[in-house]
Amino acid sequence: MTATGLRRSLPVVFTNSLDAAAAAGGPGPTGPVIRVQGLEKRYGEHEAVRGIDLEVHRGEIFAFLGPNGAGKTTTVEILEGFRQATDGSVEVLGQDPWCAPGSWRARLGIVLQESGAEPGLTTRECVALYAGYYPAPRNIDETLALVGLSEQAAERAAKLSGGQRRRLDVALALIGDPELIFLDEPTTGFDPSARRAAWEVVEGLRRLGKTIFLTTHYMEEAERLADRIAVIASGRIVAEGTPQTLGGRQLEATQITFRVSGEADLSGLPPGLAERVQRDEGGLLRLPSTAVTADLHELSGWALARGLELQALEVSRPTLEDVYLQLTSEE
Ligand code: ATP
Repeated sequence: MTATGLRRSLPVVFTNSLDAAAAAGGPGPTGPVIRVQGLEKRYGEHEAVRGIDLEVHRGEIFAFLGPNGAGKTTTVEILEGFRQATDGSVEVLGQDPWCAPGSWRARLGIVLQESGAEPGLTTRECVALYAGYYPAPRNIDETLALVGLSEQAAERAAKLSGGQRRRLDVALALIGDPELIFLDEPTTGFDPSARRAAWEVVEGLRRLGKTIFLTTHYMEEAERLADRIAVIASGRIVAEGTPQTLGGRQLEATQITFRVSGEADLSGLPPGLAERVQRDEGGLLRLPSTAVTADLHELSGWALARGLELQALEVSRPTLEDVYLQLTSEE
C-alpha cells in the first residue's frame, strides 16, 4: 500500500459527537456535491490534470473513466483532500478539500483498492472498530446486512474471500454514514457473480440517497450503475454524458451485420444500400444504418427475391466500450 493509500484508508477520530454535517457546513440539498472548475495538477514539468470542470449532484452515481495514466487518481485524491491542486477551484460538500476540517472527512466514505480491514478481527469487530471513529455511525448489523456479510459477522477478516473482503471494505466506508462515497475500481478481480452482487450493493447505496463517485475500467459496470459518466484522457475531460448519450452515442449509426449464403453478387443490392455495405475480412457484411426498419425491409426483400438467406443477422447499437475507445484513442 502506498503512503497515500494508507492515509486514505484511515478514518478520522472524533472526540465529540457534534453533528459532522452541521459542523462542516455544506451545500444545500439540491446544490452540487462536487464542483470543480479549471482544475490543474502538475508534477514538476508534467501536467497530469490540465484544467478540468466537473459537477456531481446529490444522489447520483458519477463514473469517472479513463485509460491508465489519464489523471483519475490524481483528480480523485484532490477531491478527497489527499493531494493539493496546482490551480483551479475544488469544492466537495461545500468545502475546499485541502483545507477542510476533520468533521468534513466524516461525511466521506472511501473504498480503496487496498483493504483497510484488520485481519485479526472478526468482520463485525472491524466494523465496530471503525464505527467508534465517527460521531454518528450507522447501525453495525444493518451495515453488514446491506453489504451481504451478515453470515460472515463472526468470521475473521483474514479468512474472508477476496469478494467478501471488498464487501467489508464497503461496510467500513459506509459505517460513518457518509453522504459521498468514493469507489475506486470496486470490482477489480471479481468473478462475474461477485461483480453482480457488488453492483447490487452499489444500487442499494443509491436507494439510500448516497452520492457515489466511481472509478472503473469496466464499461459494463459504468453502463449498469452510472447516471452520468465523464471520460478523462491525457488530463482533459474528453466527453461527459449519460451512458446512453456519451460522445454522441445516441447519434451514432446502428450497425446491421449479416452474411449471405454462397457467393452472392452484392452489386444487385438496392441503391442506397449497395454503396453503404462493407465486407470485412471474415466475409461479414456491415451496413451502417440510421433508418433500420426501412433498411432491413429492403435488405430482406432483396434476399427473399433471390432465395438467399441472411445469416447471422444482427442489429446492434455502438456499445459504451466502442464509444469510449473512440474517445480515448482520439486523445
Ligand atoms: P491508472 O488508471 O493507471 O490508475 P490514473 O488515470 O489514475 O491511472 P494518475 O495516477 O492520476 O492516472 O496519473 C496521471 C499522470 O501523473 C501519470 O502520467 C502519472 O505518471 C503521473 N503521476 C501521478 N502521480 C505522480 C506523482 N506523485 N509524481 C509524479 N507524477 C505522478
